[in-house]
Amino acid sequence: MSILSNIAIRYPKLFCNGLTRVEDRVKTLYLTFDDGPNMKVTNTVLDILRKYNAKASFFCKGSNAVMYPKVFQQIFDDGHTIGNHSFSHLNAFKVSGKVWIKDVLAQSPVRDSYFFRPPYGRIYPWQCKRLKRFYQIVLWDVLTYDFREDITVKKIKKIIKKKVREGSIIVFHDTILAAPRMLPALEWMLEHYTKKGYKFERL
Ligand SMILES: [Zn+2]
Repeated sequence: MSILSNIAIRYPKLFCNGLTRVEDRVKTLYLTFDDGPNMKVTNTVLDILRKYNAKASFFCKGSNAVMYPKVFQQIFDDGHTIGNHSFSHLNAFKVSGKVWIKDVLAQSPVRDSYFFRPPYGRIYPWQCKRLKRFYQIVLWDVLTYDFREDITVKKIKKIIKKKVREGSIIVFHDTILAAPRMLPALEWMLEHYTKKGYKFERL
């Protein structure tokens, strides 16, 4: 592996110059949900967001949007932003570059979004450059690690409290695997920061 790709792996933010935080927004937070939609979790996320009058951004897999059109439509109808998270969630460092780009741009209900987030946050500089013609690339400044089965909700809250700043872009996962941690952490986060006077907006 070249030095360049090694650095790209460690510092995708430097390479891609993707959006990691909306700096000029006062008392505003940007929740993002990756890898959905699905039949088991997405509607619960939407109910929780509605309860707090919060807007968010959903980086959906094209294949899931095709498989679950009704719940996909519901995200849209609730006024949230939809972003492209590729068709089948390939890892840019594990497949050929062309295959990866083809998957990102595959025909699907998410392809024509304004935003794109690379699966696993992994992208090579040349891929980034190419995709910037089509998308605003969105990364994050707060990763909750809700996808890890060995992390507790308590630990997630600690990460959030430590890392969240004004204009932060926070990553949760709209998946069955993450739901046992993501749902309670989300509910807590909305409660906690709403009380502090924060608004939750879509990108
Ligand atoms: Zn993902």
